[in-house]
Amino acid sequence: MPKAMVFIDGTWLYSNTPRLSEAYGQPDFRVDFGKLPVVLAEEVSKQLGGLPVDLVRTHLFGSYASNYDARDEEAVQRRRDFFDMLKEEYHYEVETFPINFMGRRLRKADRDPGDPFEPQEKCVDISLATSLLYYAAIPSAYDIAIGLVGDRDFKPAFQQVRRLGKRVAVASIKGSCAPDYADPRDQARVKDFDIIWLDDILHRLELKYERHLLQCESPFHKGKREVWTTFHPRKGQRFFCDLCRQEARLRQDAQRDLLTTSDGENGLCGSSVDAPVGTPLCGIVTRKITERGFGFIGTPDGASYFFHLTDLQAGLDFYEVDEGIEVEFEVRRHPGPDGRAGAAQCVRRHDSGEPRAVVEVRSEE
Ligand SMILES: [Zn+2]
Repeated sequence: MPKAMVFIDGTWLYSNTPRLSEAYGQPDFRVDFGKLPVVLAEEVSKQLGGLPVDLVRTHLFGSYASNYDARDEEAVQRRRDFFDMLKEEYHYEVETFPINFMGRRLRKADRDPGDPFEPQEKCVDISLATSLLYYAAIPSAYDIAIGLVGDRDFKPAFQQVRRLGKRVAVASIKGSCAPDYADPRDQARVKDFDIIWLDDILHRLELKYERHLLQCESPFHKGKREVWTTFHPRKGQRFFCDLCRQEARLRQDAQRDLLTTSDGENGLCGSSVDAPVGTPLCGIVTRKITERGFGFIGTPDGASYFFHLTDLQAGLDFYEVDEGIEVEFEVRRHPGPDGRAGAAQCVRRHDSGEPRAVVEVRSEE
């Protein structure tokens, strides 16, 4: 049975999935990313006259913004959630690379027209091509490479893989595919199969929602806690109903505005912390605004990190997070050089035991 490996340009796929909803004629069309690699392997199998294909693994390469303008926080988080979902729920091999936006907005249209800044996105293409060739060089890692791509940059890698005796299938999306891949005569010699258009197999890729009842976990929830939802929480994820989610977002926005305009209140001194996003840090809850569902963690170097109750790791309840308690967390956003507080995520107890009260509370108030 021939072995197939799927290689996905995640950055390209992420920005082109809206095209698929358009092609399907339903704005709420969603791709079932669990099925996607399987359906691609089936398409290859069909072109081999029904010969079964063993789908070995799915590799995805993507980029995410780092050091960006705080107003783009939500867009950045959405994309990171997308990659996390593919990794955690569907077992894709995901490799992501940060793009430094040097404090700028993500969209060119939102940046100063005179600003010559161009985000540098090189790693994704190179990593995909490198993996493609690396596994081609390992005996019996794969026989068929299925590339889900659109940019023409992969052309030399596909050609080289074919010279190594492997077969290449290209899958893409109409309207965002390089002509070399789409060419039915394949004059560029990049593939061994007819191109697979996702547009033509959308009915098999559709995510079918199943509605079920879940309990909203927000302490501010009003009314009956059980709500119908199509949301399926991932491991360790908490469920908040749409209303509570919306309210939380408003609260976070309001807080962010407060932070960018005032500089005294929350102990916002400049920070020497320059740990990459995701780095685990320890700190002490210096302030908790119970009625608004957020608080601040101070780190030993004097930096301050904002956290919302949705940033607590499962198992830790907001009412347990008292001022003076020692916690661990991951950096979601750095403190700004202007004294703006950073943001925390995955806030958890310092140790697995009971929350420990710390006598010497470091508070900048
Ligand atoms: Zn709720």
